[in-house]
Amino acid sequence: MTKKILILPGDGIGPEVMGEVRRVLDWFQQKRGLKMDIAEDIVGGIAFDKNGTPLAAETLAKAQDADAVLLGAVGGPKWASVAYDKRPEAGLLALRKELGLFANLRPAIVFDALIDASTLKADVVRGLDIMILRELTGGVYFGEPRGIFDMPDGQRRGINTQVYTTSEIHRIARVAFELARQRRNKVCSCEKANVMESGLLWREEVTKLHAAEFKDVELTHMYADNCAMQLLRAPSQFDVILTDNLFGDVLSDEAAMLTGSLGMLPSASLGAPDAKGQRKAMYEPIHGSAPDIAGKGVANPLASILSAAMMFRYSFGWAAEADQLETAVKNVLNAGIRTADIAAKGQKTVGTVAMGDAVIEALNRLS
Ligand code: NAD
Repeated sequence: MTKKILILPGDGIGPEVMGEVRRVLDWFQQKRGLKMDIAEDIVGGIAFDKNGTPLAAETLAKAQDADAVLLGAVGGPKWASVAYDKRPEAGLLALRKELGLFANLRPAIVFDALIDASTLKADVVRGLDIMILRELTGGVYFGEPRGIFDMPDGQRRGINTQVYTTSEIHRIARVAFELARQRRNKVCSCEKANVMESGLLWREEVTKLHAAEFKDVELTHMYADNCAMQLLRAPSQFDVILTDNLFGDVLSDEAAMLTGSLGMLPSASLGAPDAKGQRKAMYEPIHGSAPDIAGKGVANPLASILSAAMMFRYSFGWAAEADQLETAVKNVLNAGIRTADIAAKGQKTVGTVAMGDAVIEALNRLS
């Protein structure tokens, strides 16, 4: 079946790195006969400049209609003084909200060839391959009441509310267990059940769902502060880490830094399955628009290319092709080919297009 993909390159280095993704997708169409119907549109600052809004209604409609969205990055200093609701980032948030993307998958993988990029000792991070699953649309960032209020005694009081319901916990936990089944079959659920009722509910509901539907998956629980420590002490103990919006925000950035290379890290955001079991989905590198290097042709396209591999795996069920693409990236790194952001001191570097060439070449060799 033909898969409908919407590419939204966005701003800064977005168009440069997505250009290489496009070449990789074309390769899979031509050489592996994968059927993709690929459209492109604008989002973020470039869309604000053209349409006066970072996400036009027609663009959102195309995203709603697609089987998956591939996004580059949005934002930049040019739009720093634009009103908050018209900023490039508002376009991205609106996309996530309108597509109902409640599950954020952030893999943290340490490639052997890049092991020295981590600030941790090589022995601690060697072979690291963990998946942080963060709940993205609930919890303290959205809970009511919220706000800053004046008090009768002249003080001010700031309030945010951490809130989760049974169904919100079950739907994200279900994604965690299903992911684990495709990996090493382990889920570690993190909250603060010792001091927060919402955390206690989280722990109880995850345990219930596990007992009812996922007994084959190994489930452990950990307090989120302990998880933050364990990620630095012995990160390889984890497979899938399941956590809420707030703790996930912090833990996923911490896990990303274990790898030491922003230009290598993909991500996925998934929505609820429809009647056919198909989820709305958006795939994007975790890095931003890198205005400092935009237009110079030196950006690392690998995070975006690995995001496409995640799309193959999680949206289309093309596991063999996802494996092939990930192996091609690994082989490129093993061959010592580096963009500047992942190069060791004195190592020769290549630009964005040459890195794309190297991936295509590696794909050819694997075929
Ligand atoms: P950034 O990720 O854009 O850049 C941080 C540093 O990493 C920069 O020095 C940059 O050159 C480097 N870098 C990032 N990606 C790289 C790549 N692929 N190859 C080589 N080097 C790379 O973060 P920032 O500077 O804090 O933000 C810049 C803009 O991006 C801001 O407007 C911010 O709001 C936006 N942003 C967007 C997203 C998104 O679209 N999802 C995410 C983060 C930041």
